[in-house]
Amino acid sequence: MVLGQHDSFQVPYVGLKQEFGQRQEELLAAFSTVAANASYILREDVELFEESIAKMLGVRYAIGVNSGTDALFLALKALDIGKGDEVITVAHTFVATVSTIVHCGAKPVLIDIADDFNLAVEKLEQAVTASTRAIIPVHMNGRCCNMDALLAIAGKYRLHVIEDAAQSLGAHINGVYAGNFGIINAFSLHPMKSLHCYGDGGLVTTNDRCLAEQVRLLRNHGQNQNKELVAFGFNSRLDNLQAALLNVNLKYFESDIKRRRQIALRYHTGLMNCVDLKLPQPPKDSGYFDTFSSYPIRCLKRDQLLRHLRQKNIECFIHWEKPLHLNESIKLGNFDLPVTEQVSREVLSLPIHPFLDDEQCEYVIAAIKEFFNGC
Ligand SMILES: *Cc1c(COP(=O)(O)O)cnc(C)c1O
Repeated sequence: MVLGQHDSFQVPYVGLKQEFGQRQEELLAAFSTVAANASYILREDVELFEESIAKMLGVRYAIGVNSGTDALFLALKALDIGKGDEVITVAHTFVATVSTIVHCGAKPVLIDIADDFNLAVEKLEQAVTASTRAIIPVHMNGRCCNMDALLAIAGKYRLHVIEDAAQSLGAHINGVYAGNFGIINAFSLHPMKSLHCYGDGGLVTTNDRCLAEQVRLLRNHGQNQNKELVAFGFNSRLDNLQAALLNVNLKYFESDIKRRRQIALRYHTGLMNCVDLKLPQPPKDSGYFDTFSSYPIRCLKRDQLLRHLRQKNIECFIHWEKPLHLNESIKLGNFDLPVTEQVSREVLSLPIHPFLDDEQCEYVIAAIKEFFNGC
């Protein structure tokens, strides 16, 4: 998707321009301070951001890196996963979950998803082999996977768990936040994610001191705190300027999530009587706390519904039209993933962001009802 082409939609998919309009004074002041102090690489704003996020998530270590993709890659590298190893994950995900496994030299093993778009834990055990080293559950659309069941299986076979929480910062299960379940975990701060910077950014979290040290080394050319070169690393730091801007957006994060949940509830209430639609679980106050980074509905007439909504000037997206294993050129192999394939034919993400007003939500609901002649 090309950002910056949303002006023509009555209901745009993202609210980045409105957000900048409202926060620009603070954002520009943050920029000025960084530039005036020439504080660009691994400076105080990165440290402050890492400390704030760690506190918010209740996790011991948070390490800023340059993207969600690198967060996954460095997490795998820190665990020394490579040639001969298998890593289990899903095909209903952004390509980076799988490409980082391949770039480490390991083999991705893909399993199916359940009705909540997350890894089907009951299909996990049959995918485990003698070569399996790790599982990457992807917390999709702001909702955590069933981590109790997943961790039980991981424990039984002594497998590492790496959360791909790129879409789910702030999501939790009974107060345990995403970013705490796995041994080491990855987040994205890309402009399409609920907490974002103004370009690429990412984050690794862990409660393990050695792994935290390892990621700090790897993100900065293999140099330790004393600037001694102790390994070959990468250039994968979170820019201090991006961190300064993130520190501004972080102040609004809780209220942004609250608004996303209000919109999800409004969609749920407005659409729950449409028998031709499958909706996400509505927001709940206990158990799973979902952050609704997306609001994916399912519908057999998905393509017609998408066309209808576009005509009504409502911007929607399909995540994803083609499951990863069906892209022949990347040769992932044959996997039997019936739910993943069914979802790719039915799924449609409605606009959801903190700057969507109630009137726009009602307009979307009315347009969908019109498509189904009332419902
Ligand atoms: C966005 C995303 C990533 C990659 O994050 P980037 O910051 O764009 O590199 C990885 N996994 C999932 C599930 C994502 O949605």
